[in-house]
Amino acid sequence: MSPPTHGSRAKCLQRLVRLSLPVPRTVALSFDTVHTIAQGQLPDMPALIAAFDPGALLCVRPSSQETDWGGPGAILNIGMNDARLASLAEDIGAEAAAGLYLRFVEAYAVHVARLDPDLFDEIGESGAKGLARALAAYEEEAEEPFPQDPQRQLAEVLRSMARAWEGTTARLLRQARGAPVDAGLGLVVQEMAPGLGRGECGSGVLQLVDSQTGLPQITGRYLSQSQGREALTGGADSLYLERDPRGRSLEEAAPEAFALLKDYAGVMRRRLRAEMQIEFTIQNGTLHILDGVLVPRSTRAALRIAVRLAEDGIITPEEAVMRIEPRAVSELLHRQIAPGAARSVIGRGIAASPGAATGRIVFSAAEALASTARNEPCILVRRETSPEDVRGMHAAVGVLTERGGMTSHAAVIGRGLGLPCVVGAARLRFNLQRKTLTSERGQVFREGDVITIDGTSGDVLEGSPATVEAALDEAFHVLMGWADAARDIAIRANADTPKDAATARNFAAQGIGLCRTEHMFFEADRLTPMREMIFADTPKDRQAALAILLPMQRKDFTELFRIMEGMPVCIRLFDPPLHEFLPTDRHGLRDLAEALDLPVSDVTRRVQSLGEYNPMLGLRGVRLGITVPEIYDMQARAIFEATLDASREGAPPVVPEIMLPLVSAKREVELLRGRIEAVATAVRTERGRDFTFRLGVMAETPRACLRAAEIAPFAHFLSFGTNDLTQMTYGLSRDDAGRFMSDYVSQGVFNEDPFHVLDTDGVGELLAIGAERSRAANPGITLSICGEHGGNPDSIAFCRDVGMDYVSCSSFRVPVARLAAAQLAL
Ligand code: PEP
Ligand code: MG
Repeated sequence: MSPPTHGSRAKCLQRLVRLSLPVPRTVALSFDTVHTIAQGQLPDMPALIAAFDPGALLCVRPSSQETDWGGPGAILNIGMNDARLASLAEDIGAEAAAGLYLRFVEAYAVHVARLDPDLFDEIGESGAKGLARALAAYEEEAEEPFPQDPQRQLAEVLRSMARAWEGTTARLLRQARGAPVDAGLGLVVQEMAPGLGRGECGSGVLQLVDSQTGLPQITGRYLSQSQGREALTGGADSLYLERDPRGRSLEEAAPEAFALLKDYAGVMRRRLRAEMQIEFTIQNGTLHILDGVLVPRSTRAALRIAVRLAEDGIITPEEAVMRIEPRAVSELLHRQIAPGAARSVIGRGIAASPGAATGRIVFSAAEALASTARNEPCILVRRETSPEDVRGMHAAVGVLTERGGMTSHAAVIGRGLGLPCVVGAARLRFNLQRKTLTSERGQVFREGDVITIDGTSGDVLEGSPATVEAALDEAFHVLMGWADAARDIAIRANADTPKDAATARNFAAQGIGLCRTEHMFFEADRLTPMREMIFADTPKDRQAALAILLPMQRKDFTELFRIMEGMPVCIRLFDPPLHEFLPTDRHGLRDLAEALDLPVSDVTRRVQSLGEYNPMLGLRGVRLGITVPEIYDMQARAIFEATLDASREGAPPVVPEIMLPLVSAKREVELLRGRIEAVATAVRTERGRDFTFRLGVMAETPRACLRAAEIAPFAHFLSFGTNDLTQMTYGLSRDDAGRFMSDYVSQGVFNEDPFHVLDTDGVGELLAIGAERSRAANPGITLSICGEHGGNPDSIAFCRDVGMDYVSCSSFRVPVARLAAAQLAL
């Protein structure tokens, strides 16, 4: 046997034989041999049969590279025929021999001869009578007697299993589970210990841990007079393994075999360096080990298992880190729909923020707030969300939108809050006037109806399926500690509020890589001064409005600095177009007119005059900083005063990082650096105390990447904003991409949604150019990414390759990023 070409089952059995475990004689057929069989060419059958005891029955099991890629079911009792029936009856009794033959006829008929399984429904009897009926039914349906030649039986079994693997359905299924197109199948032919007969005979399955929790627990079942995995479906007749108050156990029925089995299981754990599920047979009191596969496991169990194996010195901590799929970790951070729960799917969208949430449908942020005040969890359903919905999003347990993609407003805010979110559910019909949501099949859901969104899969479900809670246990923290020790790229969090910052620390982020300050202006008490500032006619009026906002911002930053305790905090100055802060509907315009003491017509005209054809490419980011400089002056002042306030208490010195968004020209940086330095000098003089700060540029326009060489000398750091950069590189609106993204991906135009997984070819080339040119011009510059891609394992690999110092992502993705980064370093 040469394991890599024979599959994991063959490899495992080979190792069990080497460990001198009582494994019946086994021959493994390689991927190539099985492929040749599928093409119609059999191996040397007489030689194959001759490898086994002439009186033995055989079984064939699939052996693919990864167990969870599936494969045809095992076929047992090959070699059974009329002649063997008589001799076997002497050994194990007539009833058991007939039962065994009957099992084989049924399995062969259904899986090899491909006869209708209903054929055997009527038989209803075991023993000799049932067997005779089954053989007759076979003959009638297959139009030939049941084959008697063991060599032909084996050949047909091999052929049917080889072909089943190459069928289209099986191929698509395993590809969906991550198998490559050309994944091979090996087959394992094994002599059988039948599990039926005189004395204690039976079969069972044992593992040393619980599949759900991963905690040590002898788990499994044993059924007398059974074969294969029948014990698992044996109902009340099957026994517990260990003594158990709930019923009879194998330990009582066959104490010696049980003790031996436990020993072997321990040997397998230590020597195969994994928790294995063992298939065993007891034949007249003697134990046989037939098979071992990795214990099926939930994510939480996988993590505990890996950590315990490492703690027991069986694997290294590094191996434990490598054994956990980073994406799976996010399952542990959020409530999930229970694995076996019934799912009545009414629509699908983009899985924008993971976790499951169940609540009543509400169609506006105000209703979300009201619903939560009544203690009724709600799902906020919107065409798309805007900053005005943020308070409603805080109140809701989940968000569902018709439009949008991975980086649309709802998605970004949802991930930041750890709030389950499905966006771009375009095939559900949203009618916000009538307050209805209609599924493709025409089911109508109204305000107050209960739905569930699954932000992990993108499904929208009717009602409230069972869920499992988030589970962060000790094992999680241990594994993350090992990951951090291995990692060579830092991980920061995108966090806007003190609450976000606390979450970021909780997940051990090494600082804040992006604080989007505009998110601080949507609180009710800030919106009015903000609007007054926007409407100000003169710099003096503007200053007056900003003077109200200054202490609020100072408090925001002081809190952030205190929570982060000297870790770096990167604050991005104001970015969005100003009109995002203004109302759009009549009601809102009237309220605003009242607050500003202006006629509604005046307010309406001014709101309209601020409108832009393409606000994402208009007066926003650093362009506002240049044309309405008082806003950035106020923010810089708030940051510096907070720096001094937070540093005063004997805490580590705070060195704030100030980031300019949407830069495209070096002069923008030059001008604003001058202004910000002037503010710093003024604060130093007023307070009579010194501090330092770092100024950086957000590289999120293609031009900033291309001209990085001339921008870099003005900056301490450059952070790639790959959300806008992807939008501008593709010329593809991040808020509208969701409309056709699934068509584009399903037709292979894009391999993946580029707002989700970094487009390393195009956007990546700009990143690489930006990194190289900025480093050449300013070798000490810090490079990072703060777009949503910072939390995606594949994108992190790219960022590490181009030499970035850190990645920054939503707090809830920090653990995924920590683990992914560790695996890249190992
Ligand atoms: C970006 O554009 O990548 C970014 C991080 O900023 P925002 O998503 O706020 O535009
Ligand atoms: Mg941006």
